[in-house]
Amino acid sequence: MTEPLFRRLALIGVGLIGSSIARLARRRGDIAGEIVATARTERTRATVERLGLADRVLADPGATVEGADCVILCTPVGAYADVAAAIAPHLAKDAILTDVGSTKQSVIRDVGPLVPEGVHFVPAHPVAGTEHSGPESGFAELFEGRYAILTPPPGTDEAAVERIAELWRRAGSMVEVMEPGHHDRVMAIVSHLPHLIAFTICGTADDLQDQSMKDVLRFAASGFRDFTRIAASDPVMWRDIFLNNREALLEMTQRFTEDMTAMARAVRWGDNAYIEDKIERGRRIRRSLIAIRQA
Ligand code: NAP
Repeated sequence: MTEPLFRRLALIGVGLIGSSIARLARRRGDIAGEIVATARTERTRATVERLGLADRVLADPGATVEGADCVILCTPVGAYADVAAAIAPHLAKDAILTDVGSTKQSVIRDVGPLVPEGVHFVPAHPVAGTEHSGPESGFAELFEGRYAILTPPPGTDEAAVERIAELWRRAGSMVEVMEPGHHDRVMAIVSHLPHLIAFTICGTADDLQDQSMKDVLRFAASGFRDFTRIAASDPVMWRDIFLNNREALLEMTQRFTEDMTAMARAVRWGDNAYIEDKIERGRRIRRSLIAIRQA
């Protein structure tokens, strides 16, 4: 078998993403010689032990990263500053510090200044997920055929970037290097705004249900159901994403609100051509996603 990419991999947080990385590393055998993990609660640590997701599970994040040549932050992005402060004094020289967070400018802002001299910081985002969370929900195939976006700050050691790229290639992902601001704008429209809409529409439906429209949930299969799947996602993780990509998300929300008002106006005035054109555009986008196998 090929030499493992990392001698000791430290996972900070073992939820959907952390546990999927652990399962992947376990299954392949060529990613990590040893996996050490930490999670905040005793419950998650016990689950990690029971599932055999790591060789060692520790309560102390600092002790977890000691001697590791790769450390991956897998907690909600709002916890990154505290987590980075806790591990920074314990990071080994020449270690690579990376992450999986869904926002990238905030991660560079919160973690970047805490990275000690001699440690290589390679922010990353696997664009793969489900609405489930926790260590039991992960699976080794999660990243297959998906993109992994790396946003290394200028001047990052190229060998370190290449090793994180190789990690994601071994996960079956397509690797892209991107400027963090661009990443955040793209994610605002393809991921963060759709989640914001899903949470909002579920709230609207729930309000109506409370106001005696009892049939709202009974007939959910008519389109609403797809929103509820997205809306089942973890509240803390999504709160953190919204607050840490505030500017781009507000810009996309504003554009969307304008477009929705235009559509509503077309409905009010019976503008057939406008309505058909918008629906046709939606169908074209769906067809092109299927064509590039991202549907
Ligand atoms: P998750 O399943 O909810 O797991 C989160 C993990 O972080 C748990 O181990 C949790 O520990 C720990 N944690 C939570 N708050 C913490 C805090 N304040 N301090 C220390 N540890 C804390 O989350 P996930 O879905 O794996 O997401 C992890 C990261 O991946 C997030 O940054 C997210 O933006 C990113 N991401 C998610 C997806 C997705 O679809 N889910 C996709 C791509 C990237 P306990 O269980 O002990 O509380």
